[in-house]
Amino acid sequence: MKKIQMVDLKGQYEGIKSEVDTSIEEVLNSSAFINGPMVKEFQSSLENYLGVKHVIPCANGTDALQICMMGLGLKPGDEVITVDFTFAATVEVIALLNLVPVLVDIEVDTFNIDPVAVEKAITPKTKAIVPVHLFGQCANMEAIREIAEKHNLYIIEDNAQAMGAVYTSKNGQKQKAGTLGHVAATSFFPSKNLGCYGDGGAIFTDDDDLAHTIRGIVNHGMYKRYHHDVVGVNSRLDSIQAAVLNAKLPKLDEYNAKRRASAQKYSDGLKGQENIVLPKVTGHDSITDACDNHVFHQYTVRILNGKRDALMQHLSENNVPFGVYYPIPLHRQKAYADARYKEEDFTATNQLVKEVISLPMHTELDNGQIDFITKLIKNFVNK
Ligand SMILES: *Cc1c(COP(=O)(O)O)cnc(C)c1O
Repeated sequence: MKKIQMVDLKGQYEGIKSEVDTSIEEVLNSSAFINGPMVKEFQSSLENYLGVKHVIPCANGTDALQICMMGLGLKPGDEVITVDFTFAATVEVIALLNLVPVLVDIEVDTFNIDPVAVEKAITPKTKAIVPVHLFGQCANMEAIREIAEKHNLYIIEDNAQAMGAVYTSKNGQKQKAGTLGHVAATSFFPSKNLGCYGDGGAIFTDDDDLAHTIRGIVNHGMYKRYHHDVVGVNSRLDSIQAAVLNAKLPKLDEYNAKRRASAQKYSDGLKGQENIVLPKVTGHDSITDACDNHVFHQYTVRILNGKRDALMQHLSENNVPFGVYYPIPLHRQKAYADARYKEEDFTATNQLVKEVISLPMHTELDNGQIDFITKLIKNFVNK
């Protein structure tokens, strides 16, 4: 058996080496390293793929989130609701802009933002909601959209983990994750579902005015050369990263299908165990190829009865990598702790930080490796 890795970028590269190398060489030969044709090409390919009017590439996913909030004109003191159970970048940019982060709990079975908690957290100062499509599954966007419309709030999707996921509304309408709110941010960090070979990010919106504003913000607030109308930032996707993304975007659906097949294999191997809660795909009894609202950035199970930490030890001893996303709720992080937060409002997050474990998930996993991992876990939790 090949050595099991948490992510396998090398193995993936070997399968697309000629496309990637040709694309990168084109940049080297043109020397158009910034804002070259590769970036324009990626922008329009991604607009087509997502079915969105505007893609604005930028330097990374964290910048993308920050620029969304700047573009919407959020002002110091405005409240922004987001989840307690996410990567820190989501709340970090809210704090950096002197907006007020309002952390809310998640649904214990989907790991995603709880619409009931969102509605409870709304005050006259609330301006925006930032749902995070955690681990690759879309949040309950119909409920979030209803709340946003009722209270006149912006929706900023954090789509860093769900590139390629498809959200199906009750009326059957299908839309890609990242096109479900007013504006969305994504990351092309190497290990994301659509990753480049360095840092990269993008912003998506259908709103022409907002897109125009944001195109200026990413470029030092310039709408005309050397005329700075607003305070901006310098946030660009470089052409070499765009070259990698141009080679990889045509593979994204195939890669996501592979992730889903691996998730299905994991769940088949781990089902029926008393101490294991398998990831839930909304609207489906089990994981199948049809579960397109989940692209399994992570395959995350819950280990009950206090056995998670012992299982971590056991996996380490057997050279099986794993991750714990996330071990500490944001409301208990030094930087974001606040007297406003009450422990009883975070029961799901507080429970999950002790139960979750993410298993190796990438496009190069093979069935033998998954069998090995599931048997190891089953034998352990049944002891
Ligand atoms: C990765 C990630 C980000 C940040 O992306 P970077 O490109 O690393 O800045 C933001 N939010 C979530 C949920 C992420 O997973």
